[in-house]
Amino acid sequence: VADGNRAEINDLKKRLIEGLQILTDEGVMTFVGHLSVRVPGTDTFLINPRYAANVADVEDICTVDLNGRRVDGPGPIPGETPIHTGILLRRPDISSVVHCHPRSSVIMGLLSVDVVPFNIVAHTFADGVPTYPESHQVDTMDRGLNLADALGDHFAVFQRGHGIAAVGPSIEGVCLVTIRLEHTCRDQLELMRYTTPQPLTDPDMTRPGAGLANPYRERPYLMQKHHIRPKEEIKAAIRPPVEGSRSRDTHRQQ
Ligand SMILES: [Zn+2]
Repeated sequence: VADGNRAEINDLKKRLIEGLQILTDEGVMTFVGHLSVRVPGTDTFLINPRYAANVADVEDICTVDLNGRRVDGPGPIPGETPIHTGILLRRPDISSVVHCHPRSSVIMGLLSVDVVPFNIVAHTFADGVPTYPESHQVDTMDRGLNLADALGDHFAVFQRGHGIAAVGPSIEGVCLVTIRLEHTCRDQLELMRYTTPQPLTDPDMTRPGAGLANPYRERPYLMQKHHIRPKEEIKAAIRPPVEGSRSRDTHRQQ
């Protein structure tokens, strides 16, 4: 591994640990869950080991190939690693995957009701959230590919009575997808107590998932909220759009 690659991999591992901490602190990832990211220019990805996600450190992160074989790191890798291999194989357009068992998302996945893009957070899922009908552990390559087929080109898939899998353009992006899905399900369940949720009809909305590639608001907020990094370091890394630009225009250019 060249030195440049090593620095890049160490940066990814550090961000992976931060992502796991944020998902845990947000109550989205419980004692079981994993987050992966591709190693650029290789057929491998990084993933946290098979124990409580918020306990892992940078040196515990494992490197796994797309056959699901651990090639670096102490292990053991999660039994559900095939979720990541299946999805990373089927979705060359994304680089990061989360699997976890968030409460409201699991409840929504059991209802015969679709996720409705009723507000700007839920709009992320305007293209729908499909359901994988099985609740078993996705612990074989075949099951991983079947789950990836159920996901299709969406941002997330419900695993009936079990959990969810989510995808994103980066570690930060997939963490936001996971958190937004849980908030969407929580709020839709609340809304359904009073009315039937209706989709937004504003034709000038941003495309679903706009802003995930440069999450200059949500991620700094979460990092500060959970004391993940010093404020100065967070501020130094923020890349806001130019003053006066409209969010919908900026996002179209990305
Ligand atoms: Zn699971």
